[in-house]
Amino acid sequence: MKYIDEYRDTDLGKALIKRISSISKRPIKLMEFCGGHTVSIMKHGIRQLLPPTIRMLSGPGCPVCVTPVADIDKAVALARMPGIIIATFGDMVRVPGSGSTLQKEKADGADVRIVYSTQDAIEIARQNPLKSVVFIGVGFETTAPTVAASVLEAANEGLCNYYILSLHKLTPPVMKALLTSREIELDGIICPGHVSAITGSKPYEFIGAEHNISAVISGFEPLDILLAVEMLVKQIEEGRHVLENAYPRVVRYEGNRQAIDIMNEVFDAADSTWRGIGIVPDSGLRLKDKYSAFDSEKIFDIEPTDVKEHSGCICGDILRGVKGPHDCKLFGSVCDPGHPVGPCMVSAEGTCSAYYLYGGEDER
Ligand code: SF4
Repeated sequence: MKYIDEYRDTDLGKALIKRISSISKRPIKLMEFCGGHTVSIMKHGIRQLLPPTIRMLSGPGCPVCVTPVADIDKAVALARMPGIIIATFGDMVRVPGSGSTLQKEKADGADVRIVYSTQDAIEIARQNPLKSVVFIGVGFETTAPTVAASVLEAANEGLCNYYILSLHKLTPPVMKALLTSREIELDGIICPGHVSAITGSKPYEFIGAEHNISAVISGFEPLDILLAVEMLVKQIEEGRHVLENAYPRVVRYEGNRQAIDIMNEVFDAADSTWRGIGIVPDSGLRLKDKYSAFDSEKIFDIEPTDVKEHSGCICGDILRGVKGPHDCKLFGSVCDPGHPVGPCMVSAEGTCSAYYLYGGEDER
């Protein structure tokens, strides 16, 4: 298949691994920020193919996983209100809140609908003028522009029953928070590919400039990731700490200006709570005051809950890269993709789910 097969070529992969093995001299730790990278790395057995000098850790780049319990509780509270239809992407319905999930609420009679795009959610609002449709906005800079566009569409159309619960997150601020905390010592970061297609590469330049850590933006095919690892190893061995782009077929320096403008038209950056990480300044998106009529948190009276997390789940530590799935006593016994205890097992991009499906030892 064009644009896929050439990035999965076995001979090219072997050549890259040989080159990486020959240049990698000292032990290093690399983190792949993005859950999509984690899945690809596990699925293609990339960790096992790399030389023992290279250890790879998974980061917090799974939007469903980093959504804290308190925000899941908000979605559940909205689902319980009469006259509300919840529209959400599939993974979110199974993420446990303090005492329920959207899936359980649906089974108990709430109107919770899985949608594949904001267009589906808008259409539900059009067809149900007497109900309020709340779209659960989860995701990084990749999804936020389409959610922003849906708000503009609703505003232009005069659609008065469409709302957003904005749980969006921004990636550079949380990277900054993780690196500043120095909880884990990293030599290099594989930066997100899809997010960078929107943001451009510029927002990640601080990684080298302020933290002396090498960084490379990568695509998601196995050869993309191996190329990014090779570029990282080369930088580290040469003592360079800059941002490089191994995904130029998708990512430009300035990003997607139109998408950024739409996002900035509708949202302001705001402090946001990340599961396992806490409050990170300016790492979330809230609707601007002029679009407050679409903000579910301003329109509906959402009672704060007494937040309860499952005591055995260590998703928070896994998202910070300080623990791995095998450190969790529940992994594979109580918790599996059929009966997920935490979001890292629910989400298709979750580290626990990737380890469960494709196997793999923890590396720290
Ligand atoms: Fe949480 Fe399950 Fe992962 Fe353990 S295995 S950290 S319970 S998601």
